[in-house]
Amino acid sequence: MPSLEYLTVAEALQLVLDGVRPLPSERVPLLDALGRVLTEPVVARDSLPPFANSSMDGYALRAADVQDAAPDNPVTLRVLADIAAGATADVTLTAGTAVRIMTGAPLPPGADAVVPVEDTDEAWRDAQRPLRAQVQIRRAVQPGAYVRRVGEDVLAGTAVLPAGRLLRPQEIGVLASLGVAQVPVVRRPRVGILATGDELIDVEAPLAPGKIRNSNSYAQTAQVLALGAAPVALGVARDTEADVRAKLQAGLDAGVDLFVSSAGVSVGVYDVVTAVLASAGNMGFWRVRMRPGKPLAFGAYQGVPYLGLPGNPVSAMVSFERFARPAILKLAGHTRLERPQVEVTLQEEIHSDGRESYVRAVVTRAPDGYTAVTTGSQGSHVMTSLVKANALLIVPEGVTYVAPGEQVTALMLDWPTTVF
Ligand code: AMP
Ligand code: MG
Repeated sequence: MPSLEYLTVAEALQLVLDGVRPLPSERVPLLDALGRVLTEPVVARDSLPPFANSSMDGYALRAADVQDAAPDNPVTLRVLADIAAGATADVTLTAGTAVRIMTGAPLPPGADAVVPVEDTDEAWRDAQRPLRAQVQIRRAVQPGAYVRRVGEDVLAGTAVLPAGRLLRPQEIGVLASLGVAQVPVVRRPRVGILATGDELIDVEAPLAPGKIRNSNSYAQTAQVLALGAAPVALGVARDTEADVRAKLQAGLDAGVDLFVSSAGVSVGVYDVVTAVLASAGNMGFWRVRMRPGKPLAFGAYQGVPYLGLPGNPVSAMVSFERFARPAILKLAGHTRLERPQVEVTLQEEIHSDGRESYVRAVVTRAPDGYTAVTTGSQGSHVMTSLVKANALLIVPEGVTYVAPGEQVTALMLDWPTTVF
């Protein structure tokens, strides 16, 4: 049996993070880049807007022509043309003329401003009606009014997005405007998910004496998917070394970037994962001073990073949250690896055994900050208290009691991670 090391959560996390490196880059279609990390800066090939255009439906004109215009002193201009969005007009404005223009249509040469249709004598636009020969302008405007200048948003040749930037919907939109159809991003981590145990049956199977359904494979697969990574199903290994080896070989053949297994990493007689890893891997077997959690294996199996989670469903999910999630985010090129955290005021007392505790709780906003109540039984097999929770309250190592009204840090499970 391998020797066991006692570690704090911070020490264990550091060792896990030291064991993984960001994956290489690949070029993917624009929408496939959502939620991923850019690997090269994006320099604008074009300006945005690419041409000066109107921000209103109205009349393009020369501001000087209407400088005295007012509701009781309309200025009459001759209408030369009608420019719809997507069209261009082969006209140049001269003194006393205007062009009817739609939002997004290019400003014709000679025009330096737009007057919205509401400030003219045109009651409403009607495609059936022929273009009028004249229009009355009832308002003065400054040069540049209602005109979107070339490059007002982005100037051609400038860097718009730096390498390392997480691509959110707004970045996808900017890349589309700039004509970037293929985006260089960090490859999605392939995470091999392995459950172990003779007691496990699949979700469709009827219960049988001594058997339980394999929930961990589904929960960890969902956790991987929620990170935008690619799960690779390695099934259930029975409690034999040969089966564990075969399932891990399938993962190696599939080219996984990280193994995540659950159960079998304690030092029980049937903890065959420990035995396989200890003989074939470069592994550490830890007792992490956390609750839920505790047994954790980390290292490399045949050169591939390996994280062995505890078997109890809540311990597996919380250990994934604390160790696998940051490791997968690091593989995917992210630099922000932590969930958002807030300080919350406890509404009830919490007892702990002195290990760093992750207490399932509901955090709500109160007039003077955030408050928290726990979600009931904190047993490491009680999934429903995790289902009810939107946060994990962190009771620090060495603390055995927190009184009502005291502040603790909450790890917010459902808040999106921000980039900046
Ligand atoms: P072990 O680490 O193998 O001692 O497992 C600890 C506890 O977790 C036992 O009660 C197991 O039955 C349970 N467990 C292990 N694997 C799974 C799984 N894939 N799904 C649900 N429960 C599991
Ligand atoms: Mg087991």
